[in-house]
Order: sequence, then C-alpha cells, then structure tokens
Amino acid sequence: MKPVNFDYARPGDVSAVLDLLKDDTRLVKLIAGGQSLGPMLNMRLVQPDLVVDLTGVAELKGVDDRKDEIVVGACITHADIEDYRVPDVTHDALPTVARGIAYRAVRNRGTMGGSLTHADPSADWVSMLSAIGAKVTLRGPSGSRTLPVEDYMIGALEADLAHGEMLVSISIPKLSARARWGYYKSCRKTGEFAHAIGAFVIDPERQVSRAVFGATESRPIVVTDARQLLGDLNKELSSSAFDAKAADAMIEAAGMVDAIDRKIHVVALRRAIEQAH
Ligand SMILES: Cc1cc2nc3c(=O)[nH]c(=O)nc-3n(C[C@H](O)[C@H](O)[C@H](O)COP(=O)(O)OP(=O)(O)OC[C@H]3O[C@@H](n4cnc5c(N)ncnc54)[C@H](O)[C@@H]3O)c2cc1C
Repeated sequence: MKPVNFDYARPGDVSAVLDLLKDDTRLVKLIAGGQSLGPMLNMRLVQPDLVVDLTGVAELKGVDDRKDEIVVGACITHADIEDYRVPDVTHDALPTVARGIAYRAVRNRGTMGGSLTHADPSADWVSMLSAIGAKVTLRGPSGSRTLPVEDYMIGALEADLAHGEMLVSISIPKLSARARWGYYKSCRKTGEFAHAIGAFVIDPERQVSRAVFGATESRPIVVTDARQLLGDLNKELSSSAFDAKAADAMIEAAGMVDAIDRKIHVVALRRAIEQAH
C-alpha cells in the first residue's frame, strides 16, 4: 500500500511546528524517525492532510547537562544513546537498552520522543525511563508542562498529548555512584519487541527504589517504592531477597489477570535483579 497524498513541511524551530499544529481544519501528523509512523502511513491506518517533519529542528536534538539531570531533545535517536553522543549519566543503563532495540537501521532513525509518543506497550524506552524516574516536557498552545514518563503513556498506542501539543524533551536523572540497575527483556530474538520486561533502579543516595513490569497489555506497571521487592536500600542487592509472591500479588492487583503472563513478568524482574549492574 502507499500512503494517501499529503502536504509536507519541514520547519526549523519548535514555534513554527506549534504554529502548524494549531490548524484544526486539517489532520496534522508529526514525523520524527518515521519507524512507527511510516508503516502506519503505508497501511493507511493514519491519513494525514499534512506531515510535519521534525528532523530540521536543532532544539529537538539538543543535550543540556545539568547538575542532577540531563535533558535531551525529543529527536535524540536510539543510536545517539547507543554511541554515547549523549553523555551517559545512567551507569550504562540507557546505552545497554538502546543496543537491544530492533537493529541498527531502525536505531539510526528512531527517536526517544517518537517511541514514547507512539506508546507501544512492548517498546523499551517507556519501561527503562520509568524505572529511572525520567520526565517528559510537552509544549503547546497553553505553554509547557512536565510529567513522569509513565504518566505520559495513557494506554496502548495512546499518549497524553492534547491538540496542538508536542513532546520537546526528556529529563533523565543522574544516577549516583552507588546506584544499581537491571533490565531484562523477554523476546524470541535479540532486538525484537518484548513480550515481558523487568526493570529496576536502586539509588540509595537519592532514596530511590523503583521497579517496572513492562510490555503489559497497556502502560507499564511502575512500583515507585520497590523495597518490598528489591530489599532494603542500605543492604547489598541480592536476588535471593526478591519476593516473587509479593511481585505476583502487585501485578495481579494492577490488573494482570492471566497467571502465565504474571509468571513471565515476575521472572523477567527476577532476571533483571540477577543480572544487576
Ligand atoms: C522493524 C522494527 C523493529 C522495532 N523494534 C523495536 C524494539 O525492539 N523496541 C522498541 O522500543 N522499539 C522498536 N521499534 C520502534 C522504533 O523504536 C521506533 O523508533 C519508535 O517506535 C518510533 O520512533 P520514531 O522516531 O520513528 O517515531 P515516528 O514513527 O516518526 O512517530 C511515532 C509517533 O510519534 C509521534 N511523534 C514523534 N515525535 C513526536 C514529538 N516530538 N512530539 C509529539 N509526537 C511525536 C508521531 O506523530 C507518531 O504518531 C521497532 C521498529 C521497527 C520498524
């Protein structure tokens, strides 16, 4: 299939993008890496009147290295993270996750902002960035707002994006020296979308203990105080302290009804802990 005919614009700054998004007489679609939108256009699942290409907006490729966090533009690609063009502040967590996304051609073009906005439950960034406690900043007609990555995803293929809004940046907290992290993606072949993800970050200096069950049917299940699963913040991390029963109960309470699905997700988190960095 081929896409429907559409107009095309490639503005040079965020305010010009926002001006184009204001138009409510036409269906306007942003394109970043095109790795998810491209197939959707080809299958005519999306039939826009205007496609606005974000690749000409330098601000969306920017990196702002602050005291406690690094703020990256929405159009930073998976390969930018993999190749350390974005300074790593996560003890290699993000570059490791990037390397496991699809294959190199996809990683060269696919962007962090596009992945978060496409909101595929099986995608990698939404799970790892939720575990790290990252935030997204959106800009739109009524100014800008910032929210946790896990709240940006409302459900499968649905982001919390109002008419005229776009995602401009992602703020990633800097992990402190004693922080530990783990990420386990259960999939049939390396680089495929996951059918279960376990991720966690423990950072005693910042009193952070977060665990994520990702690749659910909808948004990831985020445990913001995961001491019951990961053990005391001041003790050495050990997979023998992992409470599988508590993990199972948590995800059942969060709505995962299928026992086999729960088992796979609990095992994914256990493996993330066993392979902790
Ligand atoms: C073969 C293949 C395998 C893949 N495997 C994996 C995998 O294992 N793990 C994984 O996580 N992903 C995987 N992906 C998805 C890939 O990571 C995409 O890069 C990602 O889903 C979308 O990013 P993009 O930049 O290409 O976005 P696009 O396709 O350009 O856009 C996606 C959506 O986001 C919107 N959008 C984009 N940028 C913005 C913005 N700044 N503000 C508001 N809206 C915006 C678009 O309008 C569109 O609705 C795979 C893709 C392919 C083709």
